[in-house]
Amino acid sequence: MNHPAPPEGCSALRTQVRELTASWRSAGRYVARSDSWLRSFDLEFSRELAATGLIAMTYPKEFGGGEHSNVERLAVTEELLRAGAPVAAHWIGDRQIGPAILRHGGRELQEEILPKIASAEAVFCLGMSEPEAGSDLAAVRTSATPVRGGWLVSGHKTWTSHAHRATHAYVLARTAQTERKHEGLTEFVLDMHADGVSTTPIPDLAGEHHFNEVRFEEVFVPAHRVIGEVGNGWRQVVEQLSFERGGAERVLSSYPVLTALITRTAEGHDTELRSLLGSLVARLAVLRRLCWEVARCLDSGKAPVQEAAALKYLGNAFERDVIDALRRTDLCRDPSPDGIYGQALLASPGFGLRGGAAEVLLSLISRQETRS
Ligand SMILES: Cc1cc2nc3c(=O)[nH]c(=O)nc-3n(C[C@H](O)[C@H](O)[C@H](O)COP(=O)(O)OP(=O)(O)OC[C@H]3O[C@@H](n4cnc5c(N)ncnc54)[C@H](O)[C@@H]3O)c2cc1C
Repeated sequence: MNHPAPPEGCSALRTQVRELTASWRSAGRYVARSDSWLRSFDLEFSRELAATGLIAMTYPKEFGGGEHSNVERLAVTEELLRAGAPVAAHWIGDRQIGPAILRHGGRELQEEILPKIASAEAVFCLGMSEPEAGSDLAAVRTSATPVRGGWLVSGHKTWTSHAHRATHAYVLARTAQTERKHEGLTEFVLDMHADGVSTTPIPDLAGEHHFNEVRFEEVFVPAHRVIGEVGNGWRQVVEQLSFERGGAERVLSSYPVLTALITRTAEGHDTELRSLLGSLVARLAVLRRLCWEVARCLDSGKAPVQEAAALKYLGNAFERDVIDALRRTDLCRDPSPDGIYGQALLASPGFGLRGGAAEVLLSLISRQETRS
């Protein structure tokens, strides 16, 4: 799979996504949103994307994938985010759980789960954070104890986006008490409809419900639902975080705001704002190159841990500055919480937190640097 197209390449795929999103918008089937990969959930849209081969693009064909490169997938995700399309239903499964299962999962798990991600039948939520284990993910207390034929998982996860809609959960759990907290962790795939799973909503700043607390009380998980090696969860999840951090969503969550600001400013005489927007556009061009580098790295079979952390760190600063530019205009004087400006303002406090806070990313980048 060698497709070294530049970031603006893959024009046939880009056209396909532009036509699909335009037809949905003109039929009134969705309204463009900021932060749509997290906040805009529409299973019907995800299933249509799946039917046209735009989910699981990089997975092998035997599992319902398209055997495209990560560079091609990047072109598609860029277009979906630019269009503010409702992609939250498949985003987590497609972006990181499928690739994690492909890298580390056993054959039975691959055959069971990957085709369901590819068809948007499986909706995944991410069970990483816990009340006492946020940035310090290795401190997870959710436990899994071996029983005949599998494991019993018990614990409490928090900030779990879309858990109330998910069919499956990725869960990081402790399978051994060890002196070093990064050891003894294991990754699992759980059924959200299994006995012992309960979810409680946590409304966010905008009053929207996508966060949840999730409790697991002795939930039985069959043995084949372990991802990779028992006890190797930390090393695997660090790799998985590079899928989570290294995508275009770390740069384009506020893209609908940026384009609206540019259109609006073109009509006015605020030269200071125009120059600020010009510099944001230039930074965006650089960040797109970085996304492309991450995708190329994934295509070469590597886990771009440092590159993805750098992209997320720089992408968050960029997105924060887009919101600061918005705050300088009268557009946010009385924004509707349902419009793209209001949505972006309300979502923006989470940009720097989700997927790793700046301090955590910087310490990861510097640790990786000292190893290289
Ligand atoms: C929109 C959104 C969606 C999310 N979705 C999910 C999800 O689906 N699944 C999931 O598992 N989690 C999810 N999260 C959780 C997210 O990853 C957590 O915000 C993160 O784990 C932080 O945990 P915490 O709230 O305990 O903050 P803390 O860990 O207490 O961190 C708070 C702040 O303390 C500082 N800090 C922490 N550690 C260090 C350090 N070592 N060095 C320096 N400073 C530090 C940082 O400034 C950090 O921002 C989501 C978060 C957001 C905002």
